[in-house]
Amino acid sequence: MSEPVDGPVWVGIDVGGTKVLAGLVDATGRVLRTARLESGGPRATEAALEQTLTDALDLVCEGVTPHGVGLAAAGLVDGAGERVAFAPHLPWRDADVRARLSSRWGLPVALENDATCALWAEVEHGVLAGVSDAVLVTLGTGIGGGLLIGGRVVRGAGGMAGEFGHMQLVPDGRPCPCGLSGCWERYASGTALEVAAEGRLATGPAITAAARAGDELAVAALADVGRWLGVGVANLVSALDPAVVVVGGGVSSAGDLVLAPAAAALRTHLLAARHRRVPDLVVAHHAEHAGVVGAAALARRLTQGSPAG
Ligand SMILES: [Zn+2]
Repeated sequence: MSEPVDGPVWVGIDVGGTKVLAGLVDATGRVLRTARLESGGPRATEAALEQTLTDALDLVCEGVTPHGVGLAAAGLVDGAGERVAFAPHLPWRDADVRARLSSRWGLPVALENDATCALWAEVEHGVLAGVSDAVLVTLGTGIGGGLLIGGRVVRGAGGMAGEFGHMQLVPDGRPCPCGLSGCWERYASGTALEVAAEGRLATGPAITAAARAGDELAVAALADVGRWLGVGVANLVSALDPAVVVVGGGVSSAGDLVLAPAAAALRTHLLAARHRRVPDLVVAHHAEHAGVVGAAALARRLTQGSPAG
């Protein structure tokens, strides 16, 4: 995709385990151009990954100079937004990513966790405009999370808040690649959806398409994931009392097939559900570009003197 560029622009780069997606984004959050490259995964070297990011940046910036770059990293970013502490699907380990790439590119660089970037995308240009208390959960391979409290994006003491996917919902339950067992994301994610479909339908989009066509197993698989989504969200609501819960990621494209059972489970498992305002479950506005738009918004805040958070 490519649209004419007039006015200031920033670049957001979503750095995931399989793909690098770069986008040129204007001040209103509109994505003007994108470039997609293979990230190389955890077996790539740091140098190879950073060359890929440089290539992606060059592709979207042809003929244009951005004011800054935001990186949405699929990993744990430290509290200062300087280093990637750990990224299970990328080569970065305690890597000084922000300063290194800012120096290489000669541009201001903002670094943030990808789910937190998705939250920023909704706060700045999506369904959370004007909302001060919200939780975002993204259902993909696992669960990503973001937390908005009192109008501030909460990152935690070490930058690691919002890792809702590894809350322990089922003691000694399904093993998780993180090393723990019974993590929420083993029951409510695209991966969990494939397990619930008993291997008969291989991918989330195939399951959703089959469910829309009336396939009972596919409908039941989405309802199962929805129910687990609702149970976990009930715990988050008990802890945090958000006004809105935003659901993003690939699974959210199933819409009410997953959100209706989730809303029912939320009411069943929530403290005093009859005596409180139960938050709405809302599908995220930004789908595949959430990380790009959020990272570019952070770069814009950095360069316009409006520090994040
Ligand atoms: Zn886990």
